Amino acid sequence: MEQLIKSKWLEILEHVKNEYSITEVCYKTWLLPLELYSVNESEESAVICVNDEELGENSKNHIQKKYNILLQIAIEEITGYHLTLEYKNKSELEKKRSGSASKSRLNAKKNLSFTLNDKYTFDTFVVGNNNNFAHAAALAVAESPLQSEYNPLFIYGGPGLGKTHLIHSIAHYIIENSPELQVLYTTSEQYINEIVDAMRNSKSDRTTLNNIKRKYREVDVLMIDDVQFIIGKDLTQEEFFNTFNALYEQGKQIILTSDKHPNQMEKLEERYKSRFNWGLPVDVKAPEYETRLAILKKKEEKEGIKLGDEILKFIAENIKTNIRDLEGAYNKLVLRSKLQHCDITLDVAIEDIKDLILTNEKMKITNDYIINIVVEHYGLTLESINSKNRSQKVANVRQICMYLCREITHTSYEEIGVKLGNRDRTTVMHGHKKIEEDLKTDASLQNEIEILMKIINHQ
Ligand code: ADP
Ligand code: MG
Repeated sequence: MEQLIKSKWLEILEHVKNEYSITEVCYKTWLLPLELYSVNESEESAVICVNDEELGENSKNHIQKKYNILLQIAIEEITGYHLTLEYKNKSELEKKRSGSASKSRLNAKKNLSFTLNDKYTFDTFVVGNNNNFAHAAALAVAESPLQSEYNPLFIYGGPGLGKTHLIHSIAHYIIENSPELQVLYTTSEQYINEIVDAMRNSKSDRTTLNNIKRKYREVDVLMIDDVQFIIGKDLTQEEFFNTFNALYEQGKQIILTSDKHPNQMEKLEERYKSRFNWGLPVDVKAPEYETRLAILKKKEEKEGIKLGDEILKFIAENIKTNIRDLEGAYNKLVLRSKLQHCDITLDVAIEDIKDLILTNEKMKITNDYIINIVVEHYGLTLESINSKNRSQKVANVRQICMYLCREITHTSYEEIGVKLGNRDRTTVMHGHKKIEEDLKTDASLQNEIEILMKIINHQ
């Protein structure tokens, strides 16, 4: 009997997938790695091994809740045996026997939404040892937002390691697969602007503030990216924790990202630290060489522009600590190859991305690095910033680049102009001045620049 079920195991898993329309990403993450560990014929039971080393220990409960009955039915339909299933973590079983693991890989459909980057989906997220726990937790929450093992889901890690990508992936997934749920995604920056504006107006008109409170408290899933920027901003922070409590008490899902573990957040009061810790924080780390190369290959596949293995390996070998820089280097070379209508040689590549390597290795902040961050922050592309595009948004973001490059690196206007599509020094000077002037009166811009400075300086 054990032999029979083992020989049909893959068929059983595929049956579950097809019969119950399980998405590709869930199939590959949860089902495919499951192993039939043993079958006890007399007790009509079986032990299924969950790869907790790759998915985290909470995954077992998730799989049990979500897939147990489906697996039971599939086993019965395919083999004729009705079994009670017990789930055990691999680490537990391995004490008894060494088992083999199968890797989880990804795929998912996507959906567009207003503030979400449609490129940030589970489908485009490469899983490696550096982020498999965070990925598994994110997917578990995306699948069962109101019954997850993680509340709040708190994803933390250094800059450019995929936090925003993951939180957007969750949002896309929920919007597509649980359309009945009210999902609200915002960045700390938008949240602060909204609360501060409403508070300012509340002296004359309390309805705005009340409307905002209601807006945040009536959702099923609240997602806030980079929550660290809210911490320490007294009034906004207080409002945020009131909302947090209200949602938590109603069993709503809260998803947060931050640059640090709650316990490491200096300005966060103890009583709040514990709240962030309720759902077991998960981290994203810097990827290993193989994962870096896999990320670049995935980009190449999506973009359809080939730089060649030699160049991809060169980038992966030299940019180690930050996926944003890794992509920045790739984007820069792709842009050059498009503009010059020719293949890039390794020598050109070395010259072109040396500034990004410098930022990455020596933590020296370069203009290329700043431009990358600003462009990504506003959801634009390097290409549009370098182009002649004069739309208000692009022009404005370009000026923010000029302002921040000048303020942070103190390089000449000429040099900054070269990095921004060969613009001349007077254009850069004008852009810098324009932002400097606007900052005197525009509170939202002040907040945006403050946050961008913090992102750039890793504060
Ligand atoms: P963070 O929010 O942690 O600072 P982001 O999520 O903005 O980082 O990631 C920076 C860039 O790197 C994004 O363009 C993102 O798509 C990409 N990236 C990060 N992690 C991965 C990954 N595991 N697979 C593919 N791309 C990734
Ligand atoms: Mg981010």
